[in-house]
Amino acid sequence: MHVPDIIIAIDGYSSTGKSSFAKLIAQEFGFMYLDSGALYRGVTLYAVEHGLIDERNVIDTAALKDALDTLDLHFADGHEGGNTFMGERCIEKEIRSLPISRKVSPISALPEVRQFVDRKLRELGARKRVVIDGRDIGSTVFPDAELKIFMTADPQVRAMRRMKEMQGKGEKVSFEDVLENVRERDYIDSHRKVSPLTKADDAIVLDNSDMTLEDQMVWIKKLIAGKFGNE
Ligand code: C5P
Repeated sequence: MHVPDIIIAIDGYSSTGKSSFAKLIAQEFGFMYLDSGALYRGVTLYAVEHGLIDERNVIDTAALKDALDTLDLHFADGHEGGNTFMGERCIEKEIRSLPISRKVSPISALPEVRQFVDRKLRELGARKRVVIDGRDIGSTVFPDAELKIFMTADPQVRAMRRMKEMQGKGEKVSFEDVLENVRERDYIDSHRKVSPLTKADDAIVLDNSDMTLEDQMVWIKKLIAGKFGNE
């Protein structure tokens, strides 16, 4: 199936399967996949490892802001565990852990952190043929993206998916803790001052509570054929 050089923005609530969907779209259509959440998680890992956020989520904003000037977060191929790097170090496993998930929303609410991530995404997205997943891609980072999808699903379904994913990686977590984290992130992400999680007016809603990844691919192919079929 031919897809023109467009930007596909996939936003939505946490654990709706945005990244699995975006990765598959990238693979199927020969697009580059950009995981904006991984960059927020990378900044959070840095903050945690350098003691810049405490147990009450009080952040040393000045020190973090300074660190962002030289923080090297990037995506690179060639590592089995994933492709998010801090300098030479693959940080894929650490950034997906529950301690980092617990701190990422307050860190990503800081305007300086958002600017840091937005700048990186815009640089990488300038070449088009990219699919980017996040919270504010269609509304703020790439408001002109040609295709915007907003994903949602029942919180219980999302927590169950997240729990299985974490257990599959050997982390011991309870359903209640994961559900609480999903709800807490929904709340913080939708209520923060800067770039809250919102559906762009021209985004198309995909509720995948009862859909498999295959169902979603059928759905998006139809959508693309309808929208760009003659290009
Ligand atoms: O997508 P993922 O769950 O990995 O994102 C982790 C966190 O990063 C989110 O809960 C949210 O707080 C933040 N985020 C954001 N804006 C984005 C992507 C992620 O604020 N575009």
